[in-house]
Amino acid sequence: MTTYPASFCPDCGTELGERRLDGRERRYCEACERVVWHNPAPCAGVGVVGEEGVLLVQRDVPPGRGEWSIPGGHLEADEPAPVAAARELDEETGLRVDPDALELLDCFHTSNGDGKYVVSVGYVVHAHRCDGTATARDEVRAIGWFTPESFAPYEGVLHGDHTGRFRAVWDWFRRDATA
Ligand SMILES: [Zn+2]
Repeated sequence: MTTYPASFCPDCGTELGERRLDGRERRYCEACERVVWHNPAPCAGVGVVGEEGVLLVQRDVPPGRGEWSIPGGHLEADEPAPVAAARELDEETGLRVDPDALELLDCFHTSNGDGKYVVSVGYVVHAHRCDGTATARDEVRAIGWFTPESFAPYEGVLHGDHTGRFRAVWDWFRRDATA
């Protein structure tokens, strides 16, 4: 499988043709006699939230360089989603959390319109369950703790579907605080 539509077979390098299967045109290698599937890439992220707000990172890599998002990234092939979310949080901010402490929050499907699609699984955790002090690390220009109210007048832009995830993390915290 590939995350971008393939032009050549990843196994033998033959230029791919097309074959209709399950109601869609698929890229097909005549030499290997197999379909080269085009599938979305799974990602995971975690919203860390406390009294000072939701932890956001300012992206320093494309797509959306300079935009803000909930920390997260791609799963390794052998990695469960909560483990990936905790690893990405550590890599991007230095905060460490036990993957078992993460609560499932949401899931979105998105594309930048370049042929790659992402399925992102969102988790949430209270800041007091995390160890360390958040700082800007890998692929991150800056970090900040924001509420929807404090982010609104700020010059920041949220990356794609992270507007909804940011709101969902904050709503989860508010519900938790008033329960
Ligand atoms: Zn082939």
